[in-house]
Amino acid sequence: MSDVRQHADDIHEQFSDHLDVDVEDVEERLTTLVDEYKVPMDEARRSVTNHYLEEAGLEREDISSGDSEAATIEEVDEPEEWIDLTAKVIELWDPRSDSVAQVGLLGDPTGTIKFTKWAKSELPALEEGGVYELRNVVTDEYQGRYSVKLNSTTVIEERDEDLEVGNDTSEIEGALVDMQSGSGLIKRCPEEDCTRVLQNGRCNEHGEGEGEFDLRIKAVVDDGIDAHEVIFDKDATEDLTGLSLEEAKDMAMDALDTTVVADEIRADIVGTYYRIEGPTFGRYVLADDVEELDGPADAEELLIKARSM
Ligand SMILES: [Zn+2]
Repeated sequence: MSDVRQHADDIHEQFSDHLDVDVEDVEERLTTLVDEYKVPMDEARRSVTNHYLEEAGLEREDISSGDSEAATIEEVDEPEEWIDLTAKVIELWDPRSDSVAQVGLLGDPTGTIKFTKWAKSELPALEEGGVYELRNVVTDEYQGRYSVKLNSTTVIEERDEDLEVGNDTSEIEGALVDMQSGSGLIKRCPEEDCTRVLQNGRCNEHGEGEGEFDLRIKAVVDDGIDAHEVIFDKDATEDLTGLSLEEAKDMAMDALDTTVVADEIRADIVGTYYRIEGPTFGRYVLADDVEELDGPADAEELLIKARSM
């Protein structure tokens, strides 16, 4: 069987329950892209798959790739991969949207990863502390942060055993040396499942929108050896600054300008020493536990450590 035919077969298989389409039709579309337009095969596959998704009125999560492979959380480094995970539910969070049935954090011996379970997938509820074999979940990436989506093709099997969860949390001790743009009082896209930060009132995906206010800090913390990018979510920002989202909104309203909030926060935190602990997501550390320090905890020790590296 030719390479193109094999890929066509794969795609055809994915849509066999959803569309009345010939494998020849799939093959022809692939061939056109690859031969005439010189599109690389994986891109051609994506494009042809998208075409049929649209035709069937489906989301990518609705179709199975049919060839998910067992993986560990540490191995997740690509979006849109179909994998099988055995993981423990470490935490369940409150879904931000009705389309999400459950959202939270999964862990295995190699690390932790966020998961989202769609409401329309009608999967059984996962319980905090439960260990599950999750077959056919699809990976996703947003701003260097990976997650997995449980979808209507996912098979969940509860395991009657405990699973040790690897510690991929970071602890950083150092000076907060910079606060990046996109910090302070921000607006997020109100579209379901989006929550992207609006830039000049626009969402990259959904265009102009009203947006919902949120508080966030993206900071750079220097531990004397490396600079780490740390994200403080609303709760962490409120804890760190003592400024609540409501107070921040009032400040911005009085000044007719949202940037006053970032300015105030910047003045408050830049140059301060912190000990920050939290999970690592891609290049970011999410500030979970923050303690303000008087100064360099032990400048001498840091220096010796720096020299030895
Ligand atoms: Zn959006």
